[in-house]
Amino acid sequence: MNGNWRDNIRRVAPYVPGEQTMSPRAVKLNTNENPYPPAPEVLQVIRESNDEGLRKYPDPDCRQLIHALADYHGVKPSQVFVGVGSDDVLAMAFMTFFCGSQPVLFPDISYAFYEVWAEMLRIPYRKQPLDDGFRLKKEDYFQKNGGIVFPNPNAPTGLLEPVSAIEEIVAANPESVVIIDEAYIDFGGESVLSLVDKYDNLLVTRTYSKSRSLAGMRIGYAIGQEELISSMLDVRNSYNSYTMNQTALAAGTAALADESYFRETLSKIIRTREDAKERMRKLGFSAPVGGESFSNFLFLAHESVPAGLIFQKLREREIFVRYFNKPRIDNYLRITIGTPEQMEILYDNLREILKETEV
Ligand code: PMP
Repeated sequence: MNGNWRDNIRRVAPYVPGEQTMSPRAVKLNTNENPYPPAPEVLQVIRESNDEGLRKYPDPDCRQLIHALADYHGVKPSQVFVGVGSDDVLAMAFMTFFCGSQPVLFPDISYAFYEVWAEMLRIPYRKQPLDDGFRLKKEDYFQKNGGIVFPNPNAPTGLLEPVSAIEEIVAANPESVVIIDEAYIDFGGESVLSLVDKYDNLLVTRTYSKSRSLAGMRIGYAIGQEELISSMLDVRNSYNSYTMNQTALAAGTAALADESYFRETLSKIIRTREDAKERMRKLGFSAPVGGESFSNFLFLAHESVPAGLIFQKLREREIFVRYFNKPRIDNYLRITIGTPEQMEILYDNLREILKETEV
């Protein structure tokens, strides 16, 4: 007897993304989407897509997009890997680089998908606690390990580490691949892309989902030295040759052509974020003692009302923010920066909710 087929199922505890409400009335500030449309050129190429592009397989080498990204970042095309959002790129990187017996290291408060991939792929891992202000302690990464990964700015805290600290970590770990997830770097942080040519163990991942308003298109990429990228391609091509569809390749290329639109969108979000910091402070919210967000979201606790209650009350009013019921961060809300109009709706509703819940 072979036993039960249920014994052969891969048991996993999946990642749970923020709620994707379909309500047209909702104010959606829970998944760090961009409140502004993608560049007009992107909508144009999508409108121009034709039957040819649908009938044929897309270019498995994604040359158009890879060349455009290489030009944009001043690297060689052989240094760029593209995928279906940075989730796909990160999952491929985990599969490619984290095959050793030592634990992969990442912060205890970080992007929750890292732990899910490690579990799914049976990768040993260890979560390194951030300090009391939710800052990364670089010394925690100066020990034997099978790889390192963290976002910069971190999520969900929004806190930014300086390039010098990251360089120390990369330099101290020549035997491991260090992945820096720069999903939010365009909102005001300094990138470590400038270090890629110096360190053969550094991989930087990026996404079109936040700063380029294309979460629905699913485009992410990684930049590193050629050996890293070709190893990732070998893994991807052993799994699925056609991860990128024709429309995404064209849209991703078009998005890069309009730098002024991109910069303008970013500066609107940054301006709204800086204003939101002040407005939220006046409502009794504060950021972790380690600092304030450099991202397109704020991470805030209220002085008297529990975050879980505020989350629930906002949700009843169809205002969606993110709440993680997890150790250390269960009194924080992660609030995506929307348009100034959306933020006004948030402030008005928060004022009412805080009044209602006053003791
Ligand atoms: N990294 C971090 C830190 C994120 O917050 C997200 C968004 N959920 C991602 C990666 C993945 O984004 P995407 O797959 O849309 O590129």
